[in-house]
Amino acid sequence: MKTEMIQLAGDVPGNSIELRVLRFEGKNEKAVTAYLQSSLHGSELPGQAALHFLIPMLEKAEREGRVAGYITVVPQANPIGSAQWLAHQHLGRFEYFSNVNFNRSFPLLETFDTSGLAPVDAPKALAERLKAQLLRLALPHEIVLDLHCDDESESYLYIHQAFLPEMYDLASALGSTAILSWDSTADAAFEEACAHPVLQLPEAQRKARAVTTVEFRGLNDVDVESGRADAEGLYRFLVHRGVVVDHGVELKVDFNGPVTPLENVEMIRAPQGGMILFHVDIGAEVEAGAKLVTVVTVPGDPDGDITLTAPQAGRILTRRSHRYTRRGDDLMKLLGTKRSINAKPGSLEA
Ligand SMILES: [Zn+2]
Repeated sequence: MKTEMIQLAGDVPGNSIELRVLRFEGKNEKAVTAYLQSSLHGSELPGQAALHFLIPMLEKAEREGRVAGYITVVPQANPIGSAQWLAHQHLGRFEYFSNVNFNRSFPLLETFDTSGLAPVDAPKALAERLKAQLLRLALPHEIVLDLHCDDESESYLYIHQAFLPEMYDLASALGSTAILSWDSTADAAFEEACAHPVLQLPEAQRKARAVTTVEFRGLNDVDVESGRADAEGLYRFLVHRGVVVDHGVELKVDFNGPVTPLENVEMIRAPQGGMILFHVDIGAEVEAGAKLVTVVTVPGDPDGDITLTAPQAGRILTRRSHRYTRRGDDLMKLLGTKRSINAKPGSLEA
């Protein structure tokens, strides 16, 4: 394993960030290559835990001459977001200066030529240079896994429709319970930026490719057991795709969860601010009209309660982890089987 430290100067003198890039050299030029990164949203750690346990497995494979395709791993993809704290709270999703989500507004390239991307010393803001650098690292690889997590959540994947059903193998390897399929979000998340040049290729050339945002459950699902299990899942997938050789590992492609287009996801939103009382947990299957959540607007006065019900039957994929909401904020995701009347173009969340 080779470690490369990429320095990016800060936007004012006297500070900089450092991107730690781990590279495993492939033995077989024809083998599929893979890029994995975690914590683009600085406070999302389940993916970082998975990589913490995966990296020694890859080092062992490398020592034994079993790494076939080149692998690049960036366990902490966003040192800016890792360092954003305010009043003892970690706020790693939106960049402080611009208020832009760290996982939006990536450059969308038509080809794999990255020469037009901002160099690390360009006269651009640090967050933009970091995004360009991450894309430069990822695009040469056929497999790109961007590891995130939701708030309170099942393990699920975002996958462009063009990569289905081929990528059921990843969902099987990771034990994902659902896939959210998308066409175009126009928000230019990292996944979309990595998929964009692939989608310009003829269909036959896309077969070996895999680009996804992995949502490894919820923010607090960070522990030894799930980190190890997620690492093993990622490893099984890499073996299945021929990136790593391991004859002792087999993958049964048995994903049979829902594949839900983004427009079929019911985003349950708070009509007013108040305390959140959930009636259902993640993973629950609910009927249309079932009680989902009560927003208490006047504590002690039941007349102030607003109870939201399921707009259609489906599965509860996520819930918020906080218990006090602002008006208009997201509370839950429900996977429906028909288009939500509230569906709108773009990503589900800000
Ligand atoms: Zn995220």
